[in-house]
Amino acid sequence: MIFYGTNGTHVRTVPLPGVACPFCTASDTLQVSLFCRYAHIYYVPLLPFSKPVVATCTNCSLSWDNKALPPALRGPIRTLKQDTRTPLWTWSGTALLAVGLGWAAVAGARDDRENQAYLAAPRVGDIYTVRANEADNNYSLLKVVGVKGTTVDVVANEYVIDNSHPIDQLNAPAKYSKEPFSLGQFELKIMQNKGQLTDVDRLGE
Ligand SMILES: [Zn+2]
Repeated sequence: MIFYGTNGTHVRTVPLPGVACPFCTASDTLQVSLFCRYAHIYYVPLLPFSKPVVATCTNCSLSWDNKALPPALRGPIRTLKQDTRTPLWTWSGTALLAVGLGWAAVAGARDDRENQAYLAAPRVGDIYTVRANEADNNYSLLKVVGVKGTTVDVVANEYVIDNSHPIDQLNAPAKYSKEPFSLGQFELKIMQNKGQLTDVDRLGE
């Protein structure tokens, strides 16, 4: 369950000079408190979405909020709202999300570069994550058991699982076939372009 909701915070309270109290007509006695309402997920502020206000007269103690603001106060308070920045921290969840997405993109790009480097210079022990085709969600493994130049001898894992990272569960020596077969650089490239070879791992690196 995702727990989300809204919360409010006081931003600032400032005098509203030059405007007379609509009730007691005293001048320079109005104060305006500005608040910020923001959405949160699990109490992490996501983004601000409104700036409620309360105007109070320090002389007669009457106060008015948002929709009940007397017409004479609306213009000056609108200006005040425009001049009031919502606190940056009310964006912190969105900022975290952006950082997270950026990190995932960087990690993905690094993984791609690693895959290319490992395929171009294979080593015994490299493990390829493979599937029958791009639409297949069942994955298995090929393990490199020999390298001749850029051609590799691999043994196929005899199991498949519906997890794009099968190495944790399938990479046990007994789960591999004993019959190696060869794959050239060109075939590996085609498998990769077709989405059949999705990852290359070099354990211990
Ligand atoms: Zn008043």
